[in-house]
Amino acid sequence: MQVAHNLIMISNRLPATVEPSAEGMQLKPSSGGLVTALRPVLASQKGAWIGSFDANSGMAEALLELSAGSARADDTCDMIGIPLTSAEQHGFYAGFSNEIVWPLFHDLQSRCNFDPTYWKAYTSVNHKFATTIAHTAQSGSRIWVHDYHLMLTGKFLREMGLHHRMGFFLHIPFPPLDIFEKLPWRSQILRALFQFNVIGFQTPRDQRNFVGCVRRLLPEMELQRVEDEVYSSDGEHASLIRVFPIGIDYNEFARAAEQPPVLQRAELVRRDMHGQQIVLGVDRLDYTKGIPERLKAFRHLLTTHPEVHRKISLVQIVVPSREQIPKYRELKLEIETLISQINGTFSDSGWTPVHYIHRSLSRTELLALYRTADIALITPLKDGMNLVAKEFCAAQVECRGMLVLSEFAGAAAQMRGGAILVNPYDIEGVAEAVLRAFETGPKERRKRMLRLRRNVRKADVFHWCQDFCNCLDGVGAA
Ligand code: UDP
Repeated sequence: MQVAHNLIMISNRLPATVEPSAEGMQLKPSSGGLVTALRPVLASQKGAWIGSFDANSGMAEALLELSAGSARADDTCDMIGIPLTSAEQHGFYAGFSNEIVWPLFHDLQSRCNFDPTYWKAYTSVNHKFATTIAHTAQSGSRIWVHDYHLMLTGKFLREMGLHHRMGFFLHIPFPPLDIFEKLPWRSQILRALFQFNVIGFQTPRDQRNFVGCVRRLLPEMELQRVEDEVYSSDGEHASLIRVFPIGIDYNEFARAAEQPPVLQRAELVRRDMHGQQIVLGVDRLDYTKGIPERLKAFRHLLTTHPEVHRKISLVQIVVPSREQIPKYRELKLEIETLISQINGTFSDSGWTPVHYIHRSLSRTELLALYRTADIALITPLKDGMNLVAKEFCAAQVECRGMLVLSEFAGAAAQMRGGAILVNPYDIEGVAEAVLRAFETGPKERRKRMLRLRRNVRKADVFHWCQDFCNCLDGVGAA
């Protein structure tokens, strides 16, 4: 018997991993911010989560056990998996999603590989998703699709005859017209998005870019702005285009940062750094994160301000990511070459200017670094939001840290009050900002951090989720 799901979430990946256990393969729900925020919502209204998994993993077996009732991933929602073959993952995920949409939407068009076979794979996998969604949805279900991997699902769902309320949220930036129009499939993607009743973006910048592209590329679309909201209609469908800046589970980060294992670890970090100010960078290995530019800025600071030698160190965490894509491997080499060049030039007995960690940290390690860092240096070339900036503030329970933040991170729109904003391409400007943060006294640091923490607490991930669901409930179904 099919269960009626009131809210169906769809993301590229299922928010779960598989682990072997005595009873066979078992699903383990992921602990990311999105899942945490949605758990109470999904629990209160019998939700389902649809996402893909690697057909060659043990996930199929675990899902089968789950549907047979012999394994439970979570009490809150049903997990419905879509197996993707290696060829599908290559064309749809590594190809169209990450070699076309990802660089283009981050304004890095020269990194795009507009291979037409990728479009075919993207279309076909989006259709596969739509088929599963249509099978799962029942009368009254609301459908919430996440992110750039699934921009065509709305179109396929309407073609399949679904009239449900459907929302789409883009977690990454939306580019300006002169960049978006390079996309050979630009009109198909824009038209498909208008099949959703709510189209959500991270920042006013993304909403503005999207509206600019629609005005130029879909002139038949009627658009009407009412304050921060834009309403669209093509005579058949109406959509609401709005900004919903994603947040984090603030209380959980603030609480966890006070736990004894984190305090012990933080103590160790402080002791190892011998009273130096810690500048912290935490990024997935990605060319959008501006890691080489940041290292050059730090090198510039050390070159032009020898008085900071031995008083400051950069701790750079690089979380492995997308290593099957050659450009990511090249980036890793570039970062490691720069770090060894900086350390080779400036290291002195008892002082290493750059500490480099290339692995995923445990939650305790990450929180201890957030807590102890004197300066978070977050300088993406472009970023949908950047959750690290928000997590850093939530974990800064002593309010000692300064945030130096790229003006091109989505988070800058909410954090400009307390952060020092920088242009990540401006090597001298970033070096000066780090020096300014380094010299800032405790009173000013506290004032700025209190302000930042207030903002992050107010617009947390629960608020984001509720706001989107309320909007979806408020619009008329198709
Ligand atoms: N993160 C992690 N392991 C680490 C370091 C960071 O899981 O070792 C998490 C971090 O807590 C944050 C996420 O990775 O939630 C990065 O999110 P962000 O929005 O900053 O960038 P994205 O990687 O999504 O582009």
